[in-house]
Amino acid sequence: MPSALETLQHVFGYDAFRGHQQAVIEHVVQGGDALVLMPTGGGKSLCYQIPALVRQGTGVVISPLIALMQDQVDALQELGVSAAYLNSSQDWRTARAVERDFLDGQLDLLYVAPERLLTERCLELMDKAPVALFAIDEAHCVSQWGHDFRPEYLGLSILHERWPHVPRLALTATATSATRREIAERLDLGDAPHFVSSFDRPNIHYRIIEKKDVKRQLLDFIKREHAGDSGVVYCLSRARTEEIAGFLAENGIEALPYHAGLGQAVRAANQSRFLREEGLVMVATIAFGMGVDKPDVRFVAHVDLPKSVEGYYQETGRAGRDGLPASAWLAYGLNDVMQHRRMINESEGDEVFRRRLGAQLDAMLGLCETVSCRRQQLLAYFDQTIEPCGNCDTCQTPPESWDGTVAAQKVLSAVYRLLRERGQRFGAGHIIDILRGKATDRVREYGHDTLSVFGVGADLPDTAWRSVLRQLLAKGLLAVDAEGYGTLALTDASRAVLKGEHTLLLRREAPKAARSARTTTPRAAPAADLPPEAQACFQNLRSWRSEVARSHGVPAYVIFHDATLREIALARPASVQDLGHISGVGARKLEAYGEEILRCVRG
Ligand code: ADP
Ligand code: ZN
Repeated sequence: MPSALETLQHVFGYDAFRGHQQAVIEHVVQGGDALVLMPTGGGKSLCYQIPALVRQGTGVVISPLIALMQDQVDALQELGVSAAYLNSSQDWRTARAVERDFLDGQLDLLYVAPERLLTERCLELMDKAPVALFAIDEAHCVSQWGHDFRPEYLGLSILHERWPHVPRLALTATATSATRREIAERLDLGDAPHFVSSFDRPNIHYRIIEKKDVKRQLLDFIKREHAGDSGVVYCLSRARTEEIAGFLAENGIEALPYHAGLGQAVRAANQSRFLREEGLVMVATIAFGMGVDKPDVRFVAHVDLPKSVEGYYQETGRAGRDGLPASAWLAYGLNDVMQHRRMINESEGDEVFRRRLGAQLDAMLGLCETVSCRRQQLLAYFDQTIEPCGNCDTCQTPPESWDGTVAAQKVLSAVYRLLRERGQRFGAGHIIDILRGKATDRVREYGHDTLSVFGVGADLPDTAWRSVLRQLLAKGLLAVDAEGYGTLALTDASRAVLKGEHTLLLRREAPKAARSARTTTPRAAPAADLPPEAQACFQNLRSWRSEVARSHGVPAYVIFHDATLREIALARPASVQDLGHISGVGARKLEAYGEEILRCVRG
């Protein structure tokens, strides 16, 4: 029986384990259950793939991602691992053939969807041949509060009852301690150890900017920093994904929409193009992304505010799995806060549910408005601490804070007076008009130019007032009404500010934040920093790779990652043996592609 390390080196072509991989693998190889929490890109797959190869029998991987199973299996076959899947996308005959291979002990790994596994036929199948382990991928799908809940996952506690001696490994990148407890409980993991990694993603640059003309801002960001790169743009609604994708396409950026309303076939086609083509931008709702293991997504942009820090972390985490520099970019403004508060007010569900949504939004707003390191704040949400990172906008261009007490009092007293003296409530735009002393038709119609607060805010521009209102909403010092008109009201906490009981520090956007961040952290296409000869070699290797990928019908990264091609281009190996030392070149790929690669290297 080969050891775990030998398997890592021989099959996968990597020198050493990362983080908790070795500990997890040893534990599972010996038959133990475990819960593994690792960030996206942390290397979860090896945690079950290697034990499946080392232990006797087939490793059964339970995954909700039917659309991705084919790619996962192709990637393993490229490595010389015998893998297959069973799901509803395949015809009857193919499924029978897979079942036969399983019974004959031909498979190292078998991927199944949970609903398939739980059929009587499949359960009986598992009784008839040895199972090396059950890997429960995307294990947070068992969590009823999470956004990826899959009811079928609840049935998986049966595994333990039916096969008490087969080790079970639950894996997820979703990290809050509440989710972790829920997974352990619902999957009946007892006192199996939890292997919890750091959730930091040091290669991701985080930036949150004030939203003005978001389409323009997005286009500028992509053109200046990520021209030709693959990326994902997240939107809150289906209509908006289409609108933004259309806008990008009109402006010369290849972009496709993705949302649950598109129909299975279109979604699958768009996803497949995103995985296979280089430099495509996917404009999507949160329906897109789980399990998409494209390693070279160079940016993730949000044009709408995510609902929670957890969501934001998961979505941004899809950038830079390959460890090369990547960006997380979010634009947010007053309307986002209003809209979210309104959605919470209008949401179905009881008081407890709404309070939970409110707390999630507050944490997200805290991240947006922070004057300290974004990464610190992000990781604090997962109870992890780090030093200021130096690779986020607030570290690079610390925003100023200013004493906004008086400005806040002006806003709050305008809201107060409207209600008190006139019995009226209005939205943000109108309040700002009153403060600025603009005698608009509406202001005159209601006689608001006679209020004592009319014109008291002429000293600040509209944008500054929007920022003040946004921060008051973010801090819970203003509330959006429950009726859904977007009118503003005071909160219990407003009173202390009105009375001047404490000073209120507000964040002032650093006007040049985006520009200076750019000059201090130049983003590079995967080869931009290579010496010229290596660049040429890298390009040769890339075009060779595209051809192979096309002829095998797989995404390019399944053949080799950019990081591996970079290393080859730099090292310029002269023999098959030298090539074998490059990280990511395992025995099977060496045999299949070694000579061709050496030819590319020679030019
Ligand atoms: P996850 O599923 O946790 O998001 P993956 O299993 O897809 O992460 O791994 C992320 C990337 O890191 C993959 O490209 C994988 O090949 C690579 N990787 C994983 N473990 C190692 C290792 N020990 N050495 C080098 N590369 C690794
Ligand atoms: Zn930072």
